[in-house]
Amino acid sequence: MSGKIIVICAPSGTGKSTLISRLKDEYPGLEWSVSCTTRPIRAGEINGKDYHFISKESFEQQIKEDQFIEWAKVHSNYYGTSKLFVSKGLAEDRKMLFDLDVQGADAMKKIYGKQAQVIFIEPPSVEELEKRLRLRGTDKDQVIVERVENAKRELARKNDYDFLIMNDDVDEAYKSLKNAIERILK
Ligand code: ADP
Ligand code: 5GP
Repeated sequence: MSGKIIVICAPSGTGKSTLISRLKDEYPGLEWSVSCTTRPIRAGEINGKDYHFISKESFEQQIKEDQFIEWAKVHSNYYGTSKLFVSKGLAEDRKMLFDLDVQGADAMKKIYGKQAQVIFIEPPSVEELEKRLRLRGTDKDQVIVERVENAKRELARKNDYDFLIMNDDVDEAYKSLKNAIERILK
């Protein structure tokens, strides 16, 4: 049973996607779980690579068909992880990487116990997180406000997981992230 579930969990705007894209380049052996979401696609994202961007109706149909191992509503949109991807991956002893919110991280821990390892990434402060969201320029003001409020709730959970990393300097954060991954893969 050497399959691994590695969950990266961080409030929106922390810099998770930036760090994960480096990981994907350096660890091609890690299999990226492509979630389904009902949120609109952002400039630069690729359907089928970053997410499967689907309608609310088709997401709800997949919930009914029990196709998600976990799903949650985050920032007013649905996000869900494919049950088939995880069960097949574990059956084949694969090392899988997930980008989930705290609800998703909790669900994976509950189902898979220690086989699921959660790395929580925090920003230096909520003010810095908001600045990053504004500088990124991908979300409307109302969406940013919602993400900052959600970030405060998620940050209250930061000590509940297996690893905690701060993304202040991005190179330092990436070093710590690699360290955590190496420990999990050992
Ligand atoms: P997330 O995936 O967590 O929502 P992103 O990776 O999209 O976050 O990062 C949000 C913004 O912050 C992006 O514009 C990114 O370039 C920037 N960013 C990421 N890490 C840092 C950092 N350590 N310092 C300053 N800006 C950063
Ligand atoms: P974003 O819209 O910024 O890509 O993601 C918003 C939030 O949804 C992030 O916290 C991200 O980790 C989370 N997320 C992405 N995919 C999933 C998923 O399949 N399940 C859950 N529970 N959260 C997800």
